[in-house]
Amino acid sequence: MENYQLGITDVLRRTPAGRVPFSVEFMPPRDDTAEQRLNRAAATFHDLGASFVSVTYGAGGSTRARTQRVAEQLAQKPLTTLVHLTLVEHTEDELRDILKAYAHAGLSNLLALRGDPPGDPLGEWTPVEGGLRYASELIELVRSIDECAHFDIGIASFPEGHYRASTLEEDTLHTVNKLRAGANYSITQMFFDPEYYLRLRDRIAALDPVQGEKPIIPGLMPITSLRSVRRQVELSGAHLPRELEERLEKAARGDEQANRDDIRKVGIEYSTAMAERLIAEGVPDLHFMTLNFARATQEVLHNLGMAPAWDAAHGQDVLR
Ligand SMILES: Cc1cc2nc3c(=O)[nH]c(=O)nc-3n(C[C@H](O)[C@H](O)[C@H](O)COP(=O)(O)OP(=O)(O)OC[C@H]3O[C@@H](n4cnc5c(N)ncnc54)[C@H](O)[C@@H]3O)c2cc1C
Repeated sequence: MENYQLGITDVLRRTPAGRVPFSVEFMPPRDDTAEQRLNRAAATFHDLGASFVSVTYGAGGSTRARTQRVAEQLAQKPLTTLVHLTLVEHTEDELRDILKAYAHAGLSNLLALRGDPPGDPLGEWTPVEGGLRYASELIELVRSIDECAHFDIGIASFPEGHYRASTLEEDTLHTVNKLRAGANYSITQMFFDPEYYLRLRDRIAALDPVQGEKPIIPGLMPITSLRSVRRQVELSGAHLPRELEERLEKAARGDEQANRDDIRKVGIEYSTAMAERLIAEGVPDLHFMTLNFARATQEVLHNLGMAPAWDAAHGQDVLR
């Protein structure tokens, strides 16, 4: 089929020298209001020249259907669109059908994930009967489907190691095995200290220099609230540096609500400094986890000289 979207690795390869691309993650919206906000954020990032946008895959039935619908809509904007898929509560046959549906919708970019155990994200993982066990098996499944031969596959990688892996070395081996199985790049779990990213990059390159050539895209969460960053850290297993937490606490002065602007200022400054360090280290792209809000990401991009200043007259994103 001729109207497939470009693969993300091609998009990154075509970036003019000296320019650092950026991309954003969206979640499928829960209701009409959330969908309108997502559409506004998507329009903003389209205008700012995002290299690609991604759409996460939820745990529940209705949000799952929305992932594909939203991904198709974003692809038509047109934005290069990365659609996520997990193994959670799917048999292999169901996964095959979903993959074919993604292909028939003209999508080319897939983030192949295992997902977390339903109910208790940090609990023991057991696949459903007839399901798959690891993300690497999903990659093998994609590679066995003719309709999906054009897929450019990405995977998750973990700068601080996946919370269930017993050692960083074991975790690195599993990541490298996903790349060997046919994934072309990885996007990292969020992290708040660039050193974690750099050490992951070193570990992959040391274990397998060929796989180490594949892009490792850092996942960044712009910090706008102490409560929300603590929650994200809890869910992702990422480590919040004590020095950053202290700066945020100091800005909050015991009243997060009243001192929101000061917290945001510290958070956006910190995220900007992290991005600057990563750019200096030659990252292939900056991937922002937006929670469907454009403002915080645009502010970081503006500080980096990659976007105009956020225009309050837009009246958007009042919460972030
Ligand atoms: C960028 C990014 C996007 C994400 N998007 C989503 C999303 O949209 N929806 C969602 O539900 N979740 C999402 N997640 C979360 C992800 O699904 C969880 O972190 C999950 O626990 C691990 O998924 P994985 O694909 O890395 O699994 P896997 O690569 O299968 O690894 C899972 C665990 O098994 C181990 N392992 C892997 N292979 C083997 C093997 N052969 N033998 C023994 N152990 C092995 C790994 O070390 C790890 O501990 C995302 C994570 C990231 C970083």
